[in-house]
Amino acid sequence: MISRDTCVARDLVDPLRGFRDRFVIPEGIIYLDGNSLGPMPRNAAAVLNRTIEQEWGHDLIRSWNSAGWFDMPVRLGDRVGALLGAAPGQTLVCDTTSINLYKAIHAAIGLRPDRSVVIAEDESFPTDLYIVEGAMKSAGRPMQRRLIGTDGPSIDALLDRDVAVAVLSHVNYRTGELLDMAAITRQLHDAGALVVWDLCHSIGVVEIAFDRHAVDFAVGCTYKYLNGGPGSPAFIAVAKTHQAAAQHPLSGWWGHAAPFAFDRNFRPDAGIKRFLCGTQPIISMRGVDAAIDAMEGVEVAALRQKSLALTELFMSRVAELLPGLDIVTPRQASLRGSQVGIAFDKGFAVVQAMIERGVIGDFRAPDLMRFGFAPLYVRFADVWDAADILASCINSEVWRDPRYSQVAGVT
Ligand SMILES: *Cc1c(COP(=O)(O)O)cnc(C)c1O
Repeated sequence: MISRDTCVARDLVDPLRGFRDRFVIPEGIIYLDGNSLGPMPRNAAAVLNRTIEQEWGHDLIRSWNSAGWFDMPVRLGDRVGALLGAAPGQTLVCDTTSINLYKAIHAAIGLRPDRSVVIAEDESFPTDLYIVEGAMKSAGRPMQRRLIGTDGPSIDALLDRDVAVAVLSHVNYRTGELLDMAAITRQLHDAGALVVWDLCHSIGVVEIAFDRHAVDFAVGCTYKYLNGGPGSPAFIAVAKTHQAAAQHPLSGWWGHAAPFAFDRNFRPDAGIKRFLCGTQPIISMRGVDAAIDAMEGVEVAALRQKSLALTELFMSRVAELLPGLDIVTPRQASLRGSQVGIAFDKGFAVVQAMIERGVIGDFRAPDLMRFGFAPLYVRFADVWDAADILASCINSEVWRDPRYSQVAGVT
């Protein structure tokens, strides 16, 4: 039988137990929202201070060379690439996920000039859908969208020789469902289509084999499970095989083969750097550096293993304490990422009440409570306590208190 004591015992022998100390987790807080904004790595303040005081304050413009500012998108890209299973020279840290989605989708459409369809998911994070719309409008030829869920039940129903590219979330931001990247990528390739994987909810917690699965394009955030800080730059990965032919729609000077030649005409870099646009937010980039430093020494396989154990514990406790509750996240390990979603019509108020009791999760309209389980710093005992607090908030009907129904700008 599992008890709180067995959870505490499990934490004591957890091979990742040492990593929690590398993050600032406020006293008394159980943080289950690292899938939205990761906590601050303990070294981040020092790294950012050095960037500001020394590199900017003292060394000034020399830091573009002496502190390696100019090369940061590529150097950090390779660090993130290692987490993606992408060999060096295929990943950049730059811009935002939305912008990188646009770059990737535009390039993919251009690589399939005789095809006119983009597949996306009706349940996808909205920005992905909005960017698909935008990229289709600027494709230079008429394009059509087919939505999984609306236009057909699955990829199988929508895939034919007209499909140029599919834009898919590896882990769904609401349900936490994990797609089979290997099988779907293969299926798309067999039909002559390309794929753009959105890895926002899998990078840092799920094993990804970009090269082994011959993925064409991938994008994702660094501020969720990678803990890079609010608004930290995103990443884009482009397979080596596509780089020479892939067209970047935002042909800025950082993507030029020789930015400091100041040529009149755009001539793209031969490699991944063609996917840069312009000057990057160096201070925010340093947050990504600090965050990846904080992950030094851990294998993604170990993160995945603990993540699955945490979500399994949470789901089984919730099912035991609140048997009627609708857990929308797949119970089968191979089908879920690192978060658990629970549909509950009073979910907004319940999440507010839980936050007041020290458990931070979040809410997605119309009725979904989301809890993210980041294996670097969440403990088994935290999961036990969070399930207890959830149960007490629901059983005591906290939503009757109007204080928990005040909606702020960000939920
Ligand atoms: C978080 C998230 C984004 C965020 O995009 P931004 O450009 O950083 O605002 C995009 N897509 C998915 C699937 C996400 O989960």
